[in-house]
Amino acid sequence: MSKHTPMMEQYLKIKSEHKDAFLFFRLGDFYEMFYDDAIIAARELEITLTKRDSGQKEPIPMCGVPYHAATTYIKSLVEKGYKIAICEQVEDPKTAKGVVKREVVQLITPGTVMESNMLNERENNYIASLSHFQDGTYVIAYNDLSTGENRLAVVNNGWDGVIHELFNQPIREIVISSDLKEEAQRQLKDKLNVTLSYQDDVKFNGEFRNLCGNLNNDERLLEAFSRLLNYIKETQKRSLDHLQEAEIIHLNDYLALDMYSKRNLELTETIIKKGKHGSLLWVLDQSVTAMGSRMLKKWLERPLLNKKAIENRLEIVEGFYQSFMERDTLRETLKSVYDLERLTGRIAFGNVNARDLIQLKQSLSKIPELKSILNQFGREQIVDLNNKLVLPENVLILLESSLVNDPPVSIKEGSIIKDGYNEKLDQYRDASKNGKQWIAALEKKEKEETKIKSLKIGFNRVFGYYIEVTKANLHLLPEGRYERKQTLTNAERYITPELKEKEQLILEAEEKSVELEYQIFLNIREQMKEHIADIQQLAEVVSEIDVLQAFATVSEANNYKRPQFVEKNLVITNGRHPVVEQVMKDGSFVPNDVSLDQDKNILLITGPNMSGKSTYMRQVALIAIMGQIGCFVPCDKADLIIFDQIFTRIGAADDLVSGQSTFMVEMLEANHAIANATDKSLILLDEIGRGTSTYDGMALAQAIVEYIHDYIHAKTLFSTHYHELTSLEESLKKLKNIHVRAEEYEDNVVFLHQIKEGAADKSYGIHVAKLADLPNDLIYRANEILEHLENNTQSSSNTDEIESAQLAFFVEEQSIDKEKRPKNEKLISDLRHLNLLEMTPLEALNELYRLQKEA
Ligand code: ADP
Repeated sequence: MSKHTPMMEQYLKIKSEHKDAFLFFRLGDFYEMFYDDAIIAARELEITLTKRDSGQKEPIPMCGVPYHAATTYIKSLVEKGYKIAICEQVEDPKTAKGVVKREVVQLITPGTVMESNMLNERENNYIASLSHFQDGTYVIAYNDLSTGENRLAVVNNGWDGVIHELFNQPIREIVISSDLKEEAQRQLKDKLNVTLSYQDDVKFNGEFRNLCGNLNNDERLLEAFSRLLNYIKETQKRSLDHLQEAEIIHLNDYLALDMYSKRNLELTETIIKKGKHGSLLWVLDQSVTAMGSRMLKKWLERPLLNKKAIENRLEIVEGFYQSFMERDTLRETLKSVYDLERLTGRIAFGNVNARDLIQLKQSLSKIPELKSILNQFGREQIVDLNNKLVLPENVLILLESSLVNDPPVSIKEGSIIKDGYNEKLDQYRDASKNGKQWIAALEKKEKEETKIKSLKIGFNRVFGYYIEVTKANLHLLPEGRYERKQTLTNAERYITPELKEKEQLILEAEEKSVELEYQIFLNIREQMKEHIADIQQLAEVVSEIDVLQAFATVSEANNYKRPQFVEKNLVITNGRHPVVEQVMKDGSFVPNDVSLDQDKNILLITGPNMSGKSTYMRQVALIAIMGQIGCFVPCDKADLIIFDQIFTRIGAADDLVSGQSTFMVEMLEANHAIANATDKSLILLDEIGRGTSTYDGMALAQAIVEYIHDYIHAKTLFSTHYHELTSLEESLKKLKNIHVRAEEYEDNVVFLHQIKEGAADKSYGIHVAKLADLPNDLIYRANEILEHLENNTQSSSNTDEIESAQLAFFVEEQSIDKEKRPKNEKLISDLRHLNLLEMTPLEALNELYRLQKEA
């Protein structure tokens, strides 16, 4: 005997098939959750946890959300990375025998949301699948269900390559096989912050054959793609007509940016706040449409290597740049183009209403205008682009002839379809109109005959049409003419058989016309599906135009220049950091030159802290990336070379998540560069070795520079506070010293942010401390120590001596009262371990304050 009611039996059975999702179990006007689902959902959604009497000792925990407000709750859960199985009643409760049949009709997961209010319109929402193969390759398949995009990439450089590829992309969910190593699964979760799902069925489903044209029956690609598609099909349980033919991303066609560079260079989001504001994307995103924004982000993640393709983009940008009046008109026109890409997804899913289709119509009707504006630029590459912009005329004609301009939100209440579109509908409408005219005529006739001026014919839902006569006029009514139906305080309402007959005709016609309108609308929506591919193609070209005009717009606004691409020597005149320049706004950013040529391909940068070393290094990388996506660049003139990869080791962005130490991260990043860079790569190493003790760090830094110099020949910018390294210029022929200039002014240091040739003479660390207003006594003492140290270093490079010199800083401690020793030792040790180079002035002050209190 079962312990549960039949309904709970049903619940438990369905739940057992959806263990990793919240089961939203439809009960009347609510979605209910039970047991653990209820407990967790109540906590996550901050809703009341109640109990359902189960007829047993323990009541069942339960909570619920109203069906009509469910989206908000679903959104909140999905944003937290949960999955939701929507379980509906699939038969009419009135006719059901026993428990109403229920089924899961859709599984909503972070990677498969379609509802526009759950998506960021300016960002893709990917679900990816990952498949691994015996020979060590991995295949990643991407899908954005909201736009229908499908892409596949083969990763040949092992597990690290997978993480570098996936990092920083808008991926919400990754579908893997259940035998992927646990450590790998952990890394996916931790490093990428995604929901993991499992799909072991990788059988190819013939239904998707038309998406696989580019895969050339490659078994691995098919397997990876099937893993993804089978999962999507299982979860969505509905039409996927909008999915586009899969495209293969050949990773070798793009500038490779490893995850460190994607993060350190803050291309699409900043390191600390994780937001777009302050990133390169933030500066460049002058696109007008959401589609353009999404494409720009994709371009930024994959700068090009092919010179012809880059030049093609630059030509178009130049064309747009030069004709700003036309560009303004172009931008205005683009503003009225709706998100065609996501619209096609919703068309396929069958959840567009007439208003959406009107927006589609309005967008399409703008295309001829767009084409004629593009014609005005008269540049070959823009003409080519324009030729790719094809209006699906049939769609426009269909929408124009069928839909009224201002339809209601509901598609079930009529007032959607234009007169003249459907004969039957016109007949119903005529019948209703004629009926109404007949009624108007009747009112007039009755007024005249009875001489009651206030007589009127009205309508309400309960009684239908009626003739109303005020009580004061009742005596004027001829006997037996009307049948009384309703009495009000001041009036009587009557009907006549004739009136009721007409009423029936009118109501029937109206009802039929509303029903017919609904059918016609569904039919139009169905017809739209045939044109999805055309609309997607159009969307793609519109996005491209939008990104390129955005490049022209930012380039003009910020006075960027078109770069030249050369083979060997990179020379940038008066280069600027595109983001720092914007943040400073007041025009006080100091431009600097860069030259990395064949003879001198390593620049060793010295200069005080906070003088602008890392800004300078990053700006070189950002300029290179901007050039390779086809945008103008912040400088007076740039001869760029096409880099194949960019590697960075910048700043102290600790890998907090994996709990690795700064130094370990430093070494990992450096190793990644050394292992993969070629002579066509750019390497930025900022203060390498500072995460460990002085001599270790310096030795490693020097060895790394030498290795790059002798074996890799990559263009390299290397900043350091180890002055000793500047002497490398003598032994390494391709290394050149440069420094950031600072001037001393009345014992203070003033940063000029100017890059000059040669090595910096001092590190100015103590001056910085002074700038931060540390007490004079302390500064004085620091100078003393420094002098001592410098003398010692000059006389010997023996570590032991340095150690003893360091001990000698605290000579006074010898004379300190023995009892105070432990405390003092701790203070001294704390002081010694302060990493002044990594501290902000405020942190330093706070630390001092603490030490003072403890002393
Ligand atoms: P470092 O790497 O030498 O410690 P940063 O590159 O972090 O120094 O620069 C410190 C600050 O100096 C930046 O945040 C910026 O405000 C300012 N700065 C850097 N470069 C410039 C420049 N070229 N012009 C004006 N200000 C700059």
